[in-house]
Amino acid sequence: PADRIDAIVSLAKRRGFVFPSSEIYGGTRSAWDYGPLGVELKENVRRQWWRSMVQQRDDIVGLDSAVVLSRDVWAASGHLGEFVDPLTECQSCHKRFRADHLEEAFEAKHHRPPAGLSEINCPNCGVKGAFTEPKMFNGLMKTFLGPVENEEGLQYLRPETAQGIFINYNNVATAARKKPPFGVAQVGKSFRNEITPGNFIFRTREFEQMEMEFFVEPGSDEKWHEYWLQERWNWYRDLGLSEANLRFYEHPKEKLSHYSKRTVDIEYRFQFGGTEFAELEGIANRTDFDLTTHSKHSGVDLSYFDPEKKERWVPYVIEPAAGLTRAVLAFLLEAYDEDEAPNTKGGVDKRTVLRFDKRLAPVKVAVLPLSRNPELSPKARDLAALLRTRWVVEFDDSQAIGRRYRRQDEIGTPYCVTVDFDTLTDDAVTVRDRDTMTQERVSLGQIERYLLERL
Ligand code: ATP
Repeated sequence: PADRIDAIVSLAKRRGFVFPSSEIYGGTRSAWDYGPLGVELKENVRRQWWRSMVQQRDDIVGLDSAVVLSRDVWAASGHLGEFVDPLTECQSCHKRFRADHLEEAFEAKHHRPPAGLSEINCPNCGVKGAFTEPKMFNGLMKTFLGPVENEEGLQYLRPETAQGIFINYNNVATAARKKPPFGVAQVGKSFRNEITPGNFIFRTREFEQMEMEFFVEPGSDEKWHEYWLQERWNWYRDLGLSEANLRFYEHPKEKLSHYSKRTVDIEYRFQFGGTEFAELEGIANRTDFDLTTHSKHSGVDLSYFDPEKKERWVPYVIEPAAGLTRAVLAFLLEAYDEDEAPNTKGGVDKRTVLRFDKRLAPVKVAVLPLSRNPELSPKARDLAALLRTRWVVEFDDSQAIGRRYRRQDEIGTPYCVTVDFDTLTDDAVTVRDRDTMTQERVSLGQIERYLLERL
């Protein structure tokens, strides 16, 4: 499992999915940069989420709110007071950790909570019980707007996209003429001053979230919560995450966030050292906490007048909050596979293949002339240009065909189309399937249709 993550980190860098951020200056460890294939993959995950959550439903609409919101928002939401984590430092190696993370890792390993931090070994240097008394630490990232860098100009970068939705509740409901039950979805960057960023793109200080706030009548909230647990589970399953690598985790009552009545996470088997499963998405019943607190702090009434019951009530909110960048890691881990492919010498070669769902694959089709040749190459280039009007297409005419297949397998390209010498007479090409490695002859007149049926 550790090898698997290492293999993915190295493949991600080599092939241009994910690069260490600010690498030429030694790296920041806070974030990662998405390369040419990474942006495509991330965009495909985002698009699938947006399609299923917004475009294919008539009860959810989209929003794109600002990253820096009024400071009052964070006072009202509780983030200034409650968005704090217990921070501890190992007195032996001086590395800092979140005390709750140390406790969770201990419990996952020993199947019981630790008696105290004194029982826990430092994950970095191994020394036992060298932790300081935890100090609360606010994870909001600060910045300044305007010319003066003092208390007056102090602002926060959003640690979640959700608050931008709550403060636009009236705007969206009125403009889109929606009434509960309905939802508002948003995808975008969030920032948290994480104490221990790590495990590749799993935990970073700058990341992307896909969040949806679903407003419902109080009393129907538990039913809707169940509904969204199922919907979100099905979304991951449909895009290829296997049942064995997913599970629900019910937050214990005493550990719920200040706004939550019930929270259930969808966890993925990331298999980082020590912990098998880790959070992929949190699905919370936020009750009427957010709309009530923003009504109170802003003085603007965010309740709903129910014309049938002739009474006002404040909608409850069910929130499926997913990490886009974290989902990208789950899809990469799930897709990664090693098997064998026949080579030209009659033997087999080891091959690495990313078995992405076709909708997520960054490149859909590779067009490969059998060899670099004055007749084959232009024909292949024309075909690539034609297919590029619909899909992300790569053209590659360097090196042996077997090596080029390996290169496409390694980035998860579902189809390779080979233009060979027969093409010049029979006007047909060979289509190779990434997973089965079977090859099929398809006429040039039919190739677009053939791919359309499969992609
Ligand atoms: P954790 O306990 O891991 O810090 P959380 O419970 O605070 O996470 P939420 O506030 O529920 O996370 O955020 C919703 C989703 O946003 C998470 O399920 C995760 O996918 C993503 N997310 C949160 N923090 C980070 C981060 N630092 N890096 C990448 N993704 C994150």
